[in-house]
Amino acid sequence: MSSKTIFGHPTGLFILFFTELWERFSFYGMRAILVLYLTADTLGDNPGLGWTNAEALELYGWYGMMVYIMSIPGGLLADRWLGQKKSVLLGGLLIILGQFTLAIESITAFYTGLALIISGVGALKPNISTMVGGLYKKGDARRDAGFTIFYIGINVGAFSAPLLVGYYGEIVDWQLGFSLAGFGMILGQIVYVFGRKHLTGIGEAYSSSEENTEMMKKPLTQIEKERMIVLGLSFLIMIVFWGAYEQAGGFMNLYAKQTVDRVVFGYEIPASFLQSLHAFYVIILGIPMAGFWLMWKRRGKESSAIFKMAIGTIVMGFGFMALVGAAYEVSVLALEKASLYWLLLSYLLHVVGELSSSPVALSFITKLAPMKYASFMMGAYFAVTGLGNKVAGLVGEAAEKAGALEVFTYVTIFCLAFGLLLLVFVKKLKALSHGAEDESVLEN
Ligand code: GLN
Repeated sequence: MSSKTIFGHPTGLFILFFTELWERFSFYGMRAILVLYLTADTLGDNPGLGWTNAEALELYGWYGMMVYIMSIPGGLLADRWLGQKKSVLLGGLLIILGQFTLAIESITAFYTGLALIISGVGALKPNISTMVGGLYKKGDARRDAGFTIFYIGINVGAFSAPLLVGYYGEIVDWQLGFSLAGFGMILGQIVYVFGRKHLTGIGEAYSSSEENTEMMKKPLTQIEKERMIVLGLSFLIMIVFWGAYEQAGGFMNLYAKQTVDRVVFGYEIPASFLQSLHAFYVIILGIPMAGFWLMWKRRGKESSAIFKMAIGTIVMGFGFMALVGAAYEVSVLALEKASLYWLLLSYLLHVVGELSSSPVALSFITKLAPMKYASFMMGAYFAVTGLGNKVAGLVGEAAEKAGALEVFTYVTIFCLAFGLLLLVFVKKLKALSHGAEDESVLEN
């Protein structure tokens, strides 16, 4: 790895930052218009597929799940054969193919495009995240900050995509929107290929050295096993978290389109634009939140990953409480539309929760997972976020049937109760990680 740094971090971090920025541009751009395209009238100026909300949300749920579940084979591919670096390249190519296939107007092309994107994200997403961890040695105190910077890159892509792809897709032409998403990924590949000299020695196939091949056969030690257990438990927390959060692209997207008053200063904001809000908040709050957690830690307060995830889930509960406000206006006060500010407040809280848990989870995995399972565990984490997406889809479908007010209330109660319960068990769970989060512990 080259020893050059930018802002005190390895240059390679910024190569991964821009590659992932464009990958996420492509991902979130396409996602911002997916359910809108599916439910758009077949006869309008910009014809869609004319599906019902329920049908669209069901496909969205499956897609959201599969796109992340494929991170398991994607992680294995890297650990066993290709290494992370080549897997990222392969994934990027598949995504480009997928986006342009979606741009062909035919139902077969539509499903083929989705399948290609699902495989591509599976090969790229977990492996690029593991590579970020690989830039830092064990015990390097910059690791968490590195993940926060990387996470901001993700969200620069996620912020700009719904605005551009959303505008061209929703307002002009769906197929043009999908093509734009494809161009985003092409830019990502260019950055990656030209920047690879800054990634020398990072993300090579673990099994490529003889010494490692021998190690791969060794059973896990007791400590490693317990660390895997605590990782598994932390994944459960994240299913709940993403299950609530990922309503955004599905049910909340349709809710914003159909039930929220989006007129600001006489101009109606397209629903897909609101898909940028989360990312906007992450960009603004990423550094201050990381700073807050650092200060918290320096004051000697509890700051383990599990603790932060529990706090994230509780804040998510408050985020849904704000949505209860929106649904209350429509269901109980019988207003025609819900006010936009509920949504603004709710998404803000979602992001405070996200910044307490998500970059933390990525960093936690690279600290706890045994080397030979590094990408696999990252893949398993993203698979879990995929289950969260599926849960979000199911919750969205339930809200279509039972009503938004009821479902938002249940999600609020569940997140608050679950988060509080976790706080009770933080110390026990932390013990299972055997000090892996402690910068002074360098063994393993
Ligand atoms: N928004 C983040 C990203 O796109 C996290 C998504 C997730 O972990 N499911 O990377």
